[in-house]
Amino acid sequence: MQEPPHTVKLIDLAGLQALFDALTRRGYEIVGPVHRDGAIVYDRIDAVAELPAGWTDQQAPGSYRLTRRDDDAVFGYAVGPHSWKRYLFPPRQTLFSVQRLDDGGLSFKPEPIDAPKRAFIGVRACELAAIGVQDRVFAGGEHVDPAYAARREAVLLVAVNCAVAADTCFCSAMDTGPAVRGGHDLVLTELIDAAGQRFLVEAGSALGRELLAGLPGPAASADDIAAAGAQSQRVAAGQTRRIDAAAVPALLMRNLQHPRWDAVAQRCLSCANCTLACPTCFCSSNQEVTDLAGAAHRERHWDSCFNVEFSHLGHGSVRDSVKARYRQWLTHKLATWHEQFGQSGCVGCGRCISWCPVGIDLTEEVAAIAASDAGGRP
Ligand code: SF4
Ligand code: SF4
Repeated sequence: MQEPPHTVKLIDLAGLQALFDALTRRGYEIVGPVHRDGAIVYDRIDAVAELPAGWTDQQAPGSYRLTRRDDDAVFGYAVGPHSWKRYLFPPRQTLFSVQRLDDGGLSFKPEPIDAPKRAFIGVRACELAAIGVQDRVFAGGEHVDPAYAARREAVLLVAVNCAVAADTCFCSAMDTGPAVRGGHDLVLTELIDAAGQRFLVEAGSALGRELLAGLPGPAASADDIAAAGAQSQRVAAGQTRRIDAAAVPALLMRNLQHPRWDAVAQRCLSCANCTLACPTCFCSSNQEVTDLAGAAHRERHWDSCFNVEFSHLGHGSVRDSVKARYRQWLTHKLATWHEQFGQSGCVGCGRCISWCPVGIDLTEEVAAIAASDAGGRP
């Protein structure tokens, strides 16, 4: 009798490399976490040996440091400065080019869409939620961004259940993690204890099931499956930052004149780091770039609501103070995004907290407003 397919398989590092090899054979370029310049970032990789084994991150408002773990876990950290949006919505892309012809006319040429087959390795639950948010923005409505849609279609997602949370994480409060709940092709759970280092692998799509069937390894034991579940519960319980995601839209919108906006504006540098690090922020601007030989192209680049020029209309910026720009960012992210897209614009990854040079923490800002909220009463 034929053995039924295992729904949860157990593999070791060699099995993980077998997954990488299978992806390569199917034509996927593998992108995953690597240790570079003091941070864990996403880049092209070919081998499991390139993963940041033995490293973890310590994060706090305005602070990100890597330290050594006392084991060789390859996914033993939270999220770093990069998010997957840099591959799906690149920081800079040419939209079309223009060439002046000999007869004085102009020839317009659309930029071909670059959408390589890519496998993202180590996508966290909050990051899957962030990809879902950008899917809604770029490809979910009446006006689809064709380049985003093509790149997204070509991506295979290998997720990882978090084994640790950074001090800045609050995915459990935003109901996006730490356990992966969907949107993936495969999901890994790394276990490392007295029984050694091993990975539970589950499929979340038909392609994931095909890949899972080809992996070497037995079915995971009930004990390992229970250990994986307990690990996710520990990570959720260890998160200390809280936000009442359901109450916060009304809270912010009835406190648009709260003095806390003045206080945060005294600290905020309007540097835009938070929006560039945020996996859901999607603002961009277009720019015409010309050379001296008669050629020009239009490019789109990431922009930010913290840049004063971003809201320049007619006589000047409609948000010409730091207070106005910070308030716009936070109220859009946590409140008006719901009206626009039917969900929060924040997935609780904590990047904007760690990568803010002055350590502004949006959960603290919300808590400070809530602490003196008049509750709608005059
Ligand atoms: S607002 Fe901050 S915590 Fe929320 S998704 Fe963006 S970077 Fe992450
Ligand atoms: S909140 Fe922090 S990261 Fe964002 S613009 Fe202000 S200083 Fe920069």
